[in-house]
Amino acid sequence: MDLGIRGKRALVCASSKGLGRGCAEALAEAGVDLVMNARGADALEEAAQDLRDRYQVSIKTVAADIVSEDGRAQVLEEAGDVDILVTNAGGPPPGMWSDWGREDFIKALDANMLTPIALMTALMPKMIDKGWGRVVNITSVSVKAPVAVLGLSNSARTGLTGYVAGTARQVAPNGVVVNNLLPGLHATDRAVSLDQGAAKSGGISYEEAKAQREATIPVGRYGTPGEFGAMCAFLCSQHSGFIVGQNILLDGGASNMTM
Ligand code: NAP
Repeated sequence: MDLGIRGKRALVCASSKGLGRGCAEALAEAGVDLVMNARGADALEEAAQDLRDRYQVSIKTVAADIVSEDGRAQVLEEAGDVDILVTNAGGPPPGMWSDWGREDFIKALDANMLTPIALMTALMPKMIDKGWGRVVNITSVSVKAPVAVLGLSNSARTGLTGYVAGTARQVAPNGVVVNNLLPGLHATDRAVSLDQGAAKSGGISYEEAKAQREATIPVGRYGTPGEFGAMCAFLCSQHSGFIVGQNILLDGGASNMTM
């Protein structure tokens, strides 16, 4: 299928590794020029060069913390008037409800709610002017099926979900399509660190912890960044114009629900 977005420009945040990289790759494959971002410059440049070599698209990189105001300003300057925005940042650490104070919640809200909102606020007016835009926010399964140890993530991402529900419907008349993409368990560094946490708290090996978590997924394995990126690219395509304000779950069937 031709996604119809060859020659468009996209900002993909937090994209040197994992799900963000999967999204960057699928967009590059569709012929989209990219601005890629992550904090670590080496891994970011390596990822960008790999995509330039394989897909012959133009890719700029901005090594900066997307959660900080300075970092975000650098990224936005390079992004200019992108047609497509994919928001992403690292997730908050797991823990117990009794571990977290105000500062922990402020950090989680900054990373996983206020940063994507700031990016949308900065970039959507230019999309509205052009009459076309696509926004995909990488959130989490936790907004539909909260994960007990991820209370900080549950809280911040649910706030973003509420914001998108209204905003997506306000910008849709101007050709700007906003949706959230909800990862369940995917094979990335984040999954490795959550498996290590589960191993430690359960007093079992890393392999046992991973096998236990894979067994909770009907397809019997973690998702891949490639599968995730393919859905992201579709949501950024010409074909997604009637999909507005949705929370699309990619979890291998792990959450047993109909909505
Ligand atoms: P990952 O493998 O840890 O990759 C994170 C990427 O984001 C790296 O490129 C990292 O590069 C970059 N990054 C992190 N914090 C950043 C920041 N403040 N500014 C700029 N770049 C930043 O994570 P992932 O598994 O792809 O997860 C992506 C998101 O989905 C996270 O929010 C995660 O919580 C959520 N999620 C993941 C899963 C899963 O199973 N993987 C499930 C549910 C939700 P640098 O470190 O160099 O900055």
